[in-house]
Amino acid sequence: MQINTPKKTKSNVVTMGPPETFEYAPSIESTEIVKIDKQNKLFINGKFTAPKNKKYFLTYNPATEEVLAEIAEAQTNDVDLAVKAARKAYTGVWGKLSGKMRGRYLYRIARIIQERAREFAVLETLDNGKPIRESRDIDIPLVAAHFFYYAGWADKLDYVVPGKKVSSLGVVGQVIPWNFPLLMAAWKIAPALACGNTVVIKPAETTSLSILLLAKVFQEASLPDGVVNIVTGAGATGSALVTHSDINKVAFTGSTEVGKLIARSIAKTSKKLTLELGGKSAHIVYADAAIDQAVEGVINGIFFNQGHVCCAGSRLLVEESIAEMFIEKLKTRMNQLRTGNPLDKNTDVGAINSKTELTKIKKLIRTGIDEGGDYFEATGKIPDKGYFHKPCLFNNVSSAFTLSRIEIFGPVLTISTFRTVQEAILKANDTPYGLAAGIWSEKGSKIHKTASQLKAGVIWANTYNKFDPTSPFGGYNESGFGREGGRHGLFPYLEIK
Ligand code: NAP
Ligand code: MG
Repeated sequence: MQINTPKKTKSNVVTMGPPETFEYAPSIESTEIVKIDKQNKLFINGKFTAPKNKKYFLTYNPATEEVLAEIAEAQTNDVDLAVKAARKAYTGVWGKLSGKMRGRYLYRIARIIQERAREFAVLETLDNGKPIRESRDIDIPLVAAHFFYYAGWADKLDYVVPGKKVSSLGVVGQVIPWNFPLLMAAWKIAPALACGNTVVIKPAETTSLSILLLAKVFQEASLPDGVVNIVTGAGATGSALVTHSDINKVAFTGSTEVGKLIARSIAKTSKKLTLELGGKSAHIVYADAAIDQAVEGVINGIFFNQGHVCCAGSRLLVEESIAEMFIEKLKTRMNQLRTGNPLDKNTDVGAINSKTELTKIKKLIRTGIDEGGDYFEATGKIPDKGYFHKPCLFNNVSSAFTLSRIEIFGPVLTISTFRTVQEAILKANDTPYGLAAGIWSEKGSKIHKTASQLKAGVIWANTYNKFDPTSPFGGYNESGFGREGGRHGLFPYLEIK
């Protein structure tokens, strides 16, 4: 073990020296609990069904580049079959069930997810590349919590909007991204079912395995056939789903670019739409903040899930008087993050989900360097094989930089400074997005003053990236519209009269 020695920086601020590098013995989670089928079919009308044209694509473990399985590629005719099954379930058994009975199914699903949590966590880590610590302690518990929470609402819908009558919409078409595969599925499926709708859902091409395991949970819970149907495939499958004529509502989580395409493609229909899109969230640190906690918050805000987080605190705005010291501390902390095997319980930063994403991140970093950003990359090794990127930051980045404006969706933090509260607010709002923000200060009044002027759907104070099924989540402007979670998360799935 290396022992740190305090040293003086230019501004005479005492900081710690080179990073402590405890060499932890590997602690690898066993994968024995997971059995991955070599070939994975579509889930239609309660059964695993081969795609009509027999086409399959490969899904990989991004940490090893090894093939995990073959996944069915649904075409328009398969999507049509899935929508028909959902319609039949809606007009039949599911549509006739009481809220109390729907709630029972949701509770049952939540309990089975808890029982099989370890299996889900390992599978999610294998297919997505996120650290096991995160899939085990954050993703999967939140998935179960979402099903529990909306199970509780299923028989209380008369109280969702006091004085108003509510009813279900029908068949819902849902498309989700790869960054939190099972959690995004839960955010979509649980409220839709609680409200009495049936579902056809398409996961992202690179991360279909955990939702296919969820299909087995639906079977185990005896969820009636056709209530949830899963069509795997790429963008074309998603497009076939959202444009299908017998869909009543579209719920999409993904990039702003695809969100706009979808909005355009259904503009002339009566389909309801919610869009949960990208972000470029500001993380404001005032000089009076609890500095060490704020450093931890900023680290968590950008490096959690390799930065593949729609609400990642990717733009740090730090008060000028503490900037030098704060950035020094950030760098020290970054050097302590362990990037590597996601199955190792000591790993902080796992694998980038795909080669395509890694290439995109590297290209944007190159742009930042070319534009004159002050680049810092954490020390330490990354594995030779697999798609990995070290945590990094760009200092002295103005709002005009490409990196300040574009969502990188990787472990890249950009930093600029401010002198007054007003300047912090102006800079934070200087973005086409509006998903989330973070504020660090010991003064409640300053936090309220700042928060009330920030244009962001979710604002955390003296913490970051805290998620709870009871709390609504969603954005403004280019980050989309509609809320997921909480009572608000029911509105998009109900007709309210
Ligand atoms: P994406 O490329 O937009 O893909 C999202 C989903 O849409 C995937 O299932 C994708 O399929 C599918 N898709 C692609 N083209 C389509 C089309 N023309 N019609 C219908 N569906 C289509 O986004 P991503 O790269 O997977 O995810 C990252 C983005 O999601 C980021 O921008 C992030 O901020 C955002 N996100 C937002 C939230 C939120 O709550 N606001 C949460 C998580 C992520 P394939 O993957 O198979 O191409
Ligand atoms: Mg994969």
